[in-house]
Amino acid sequence: MILHKSPNKDPKLPKSYRPINLLDVGGKVFEKVLKDLTSEALYTPLAPEQFGFLQGKCTTDAILKLHQTIENGDLKYIAALFVDISGAFDNLWWPALLVRLEEQKIPKHLYDVLKDYLSQRWVEVQTPLGTYAKPVTKGCPQASVLGPFLWNLVMDTCIQRLKPYATEVLAYADDLLVLWQSRSRLHLEEQGRVICRQLQEWCELNKLTVAPDKSALMVFPIKEPKTFRRQPTVRINGHRIPVVRETVYLGIRLDLFLHYRSHLRLQTHKAIQAVSRVTSLAKRDYSLTPEKQKILYKGIFEGIALYACGVWAQRILLKTSGSILLRAQRTALVRLFGAYTDTPLEALTLILDEPPAHLTALFRAAKYHVKRDRPDLSHELIENYSNLSKSERKEKLVEMWDAWLRESPKGTFARAIFGNVHNRKRLPWVKPNRAIIRVLSAHGPFRDHLCRRRLVDSDLCLADSERDTVEHAVFRCRAVPETLKEARMKIQARTLRDIIQDREDWNILSAALADLVQKRESESLLVRAGIQVAEADS
Ligand SMILES: [Zn+2]
Repeated sequence: MILHKSPNKDPKLPKSYRPINLLDVGGKVFEKVLKDLTSEALYTPLAPEQFGFLQGKCTTDAILKLHQTIENGDLKYIAALFVDISGAFDNLWWPALLVRLEEQKIPKHLYDVLKDYLSQRWVEVQTPLGTYAKPVTKGCPQASVLGPFLWNLVMDTCIQRLKPYATEVLAYADDLLVLWQSRSRLHLEEQGRVICRQLQEWCELNKLTVAPDKSALMVFPIKEPKTFRRQPTVRINGHRIPVVRETVYLGIRLDLFLHYRSHLRLQTHKAIQAVSRVTSLAKRDYSLTPEKQKILYKGIFEGIALYACGVWAQRILLKTSGSILLRAQRTALVRLFGAYTDTPLEALTLILDEPPAHLTALFRAAKYHVKRDRPDLSHELIENYSNLSKSERKEKLVEMWDAWLRESPKGTFARAIFGNVHNRKRLPWVKPNRAIIRVLSAHGPFRDHLCRRRLVDSDLCLADSERDTVEHAVFRCRAVPETLKEARMKIQARTLRDIIQDREDWNILSAALADLVQKRESESLLVRAGIQVAEADS
């Protein structure tokens, strides 16, 4: 048992502490056996409205169900009541659970084992004044196998009770959501009263309470975006439930029109913050290879930013939502790979061989929908996704990626070198590091670029009075490190485009590029120009 205190809570209040009760391995095995036996013996299986702790079900399923219920609504409004059950798990009352097990007609020997397992439990706390012990009659230990299952069993009775009065009831662990349709505010309030009465009765039976201030009511307009002159009143235990225009449900921020724009804004912001924290930790660590940087990008940025994309990916095709995601992706890549802050995303996707995030989201969503056997939805996203083979899907992504590049005027330098995405994919030896990204995007310590950014007055090279472009620096400039001069002698091809096609030439040149970039960036002219490199502001 561990006592854990969060920093901004009153240390004097017992509620500020979270006792963690861990289950040992023996207990886990025992609970797993009990759980499997009990779930097989259930008289009625768990309601399909349950989504938590169940194999093959995830939060996206529950959110999507909510989304579809609202979209398929045919009356004027859909009310959504987000119910917060106070400390749900800690308050799962065992006697109510045992009644439920009896109702489920599980065999007597199993019932007796469960009853015995739940009886005579004590919590012990070691304090400087000695050991303090207290009997326990509710709650389940952390990491318990049986606990969530037992909770679902009790939650089932809640669903059965509310279902006749609601359009949809969704339960994910202790997250309860009740949806009902209505023609008018009055109708909405009436139905709300009935539902809340049922909910209250259920709570009383199970010794649970709803926290009205933590619960929320959202009223989604179905046809026209109309709002009430007076907000509807729905009460639980005599307390009015706040009516909100936005709320967070299972980690996704819902808005009244299901645009998910504010969700994307918040979620991408979170993703960038997480990326920044990691890059500041790894700042001086040059052992981060491009492969590791990519793993970090996928794990951190995509993991956070693309959460539940099965629900919102269709929206990404709308301009604003798409640009929120792409802007965030550019920031994340710039920070992770230490590129110049103004490097265009178009160039980064090619150099790093990383598709634009809106397409990644779209393809992930299509995959999700195909897996869930909802071809109608994936059809909307990507034509015939379910009929495509694995390689055809990859081809389709490349095709859409190329189309996206063609539509944009940015990243022309990288595009001139690589040609298109298909060609980029045939050059696995181009492994992008800081120097290579600077050279291949032309967003680096070249006076031509710095002049365009108004960081220097002239684009002429100080050593040769020729325009200081990438080509000048790589092939002609005299003020370069010896390693680059030697590399120039060994390379056959004469343009960057030709050099990257040849593995040997590229390996010789790319090794020397690091020296070139380092020399130029440490030169005082850049320092005076106050060049902002990504890691400086991360
Ligand atoms: Zn020069």
